Amino acid sequence: MGRVDNKVALVTGGAKGIGRASALMLAREGARVVLTDVEEAQGSAVAKEIERAGGKALFLTQDVTDESRWVEVVEKARAQFGGLNIVVNNAGIGTAGSAEDETLEAWRRLMSVNLDGVFLGTKHAIRAMKNGPGTGSIINISSIEGIVADPKLASYNASKGGVRIFSKSAALHCAQAGYRIRVNTIHPGYIWTPMVEGYLTSLGDVEGGRQVISKMHPIGRMGEPDDIAYGVLYLGSDESSFMTGSELVIDGGYTA
Ligand code: NAD
Repeated sequence: MGRVDNKVALVTGGAKGIGRASALMLAREGARVVLTDVEEAQGSAVAKEIERAGGKALFLTQDVTDESRWVEVVEKARAQFGGLNIVVNNAGIGTAGSAEDETLEAWRRLMSVNLDGVFLGTKHAIRAMKNGPGTGSIINISSIEGIVADPKLASYNASKGGVRIFSKSAALHCAQAGYRIRVNTIHPGYIWTPMVEGYLTSLGDVEGGRQVISKMHPIGRMGEPDDIAYGVLYLGSDESSFMTGSELVIDGGYTA
């Protein structure tokens, strides 16, 4: 028996990294999975991987900043699998910039994906789940950068801090409205994904950067995507049914 049997999950940014690992794990544990991404080829490949392993998956292209696409995606999930129980708002981007140097254009682009995307995903998840079958769990991926600041990551800090407190507001709204919907955040430390690899490549020293970042985590290593997917699985399952408005920090001791 799987830990999320009979549930339907939607994972944004499911083509790579943390989203891919979360989609695969939720499917392995019994969920039917809708995964979405702007990257069509890689997203379709993940859906095929799930199907080959005997799971059920649907890939849809989606830019999480587009509200009309959210309406279509939720409707397609309902038509294919009958409703939504777990929504993982994972799609995100990371760009470096200080409070003094960041351009308004870069700031707005990052806010649009990391904050508007989570807002829209939460809003449409609530609308789909409140009258849908079973219970709902919305999992918004924040970051250690939503808890502690980095002088080079001004907009990223602001977006991830925004995800953290927005999710608490949404959790209280759902609880007070009497919906059977929980909203929580996950705060990963540095996780070895294409996002981090791209960042270290831009600095010109992937292996050196990897060692420096590993040492920033008291546990002595960076995280792997599955380290976060296990958190997604817990928050998506009924094992966490008393948890809402909470933060799951999975960071190898980084913020301790
Ligand atoms: P990644 O770049 O490896 O994967 C992100 C995925 O999101 C990609 O497949 C990308 O195509 C997709 N995406 C980007 N913009 C999108 C958009 N507008 N609409 C739909 N999809 C879009 O990143 P990752 O490291 O797996 O990060 C996933 C999430 O975890 C992000 O929110 C990130 O901020 C957060 N996070 C990552 C780390 C880390 O160290 N990797 C740490 C803390 C938090």
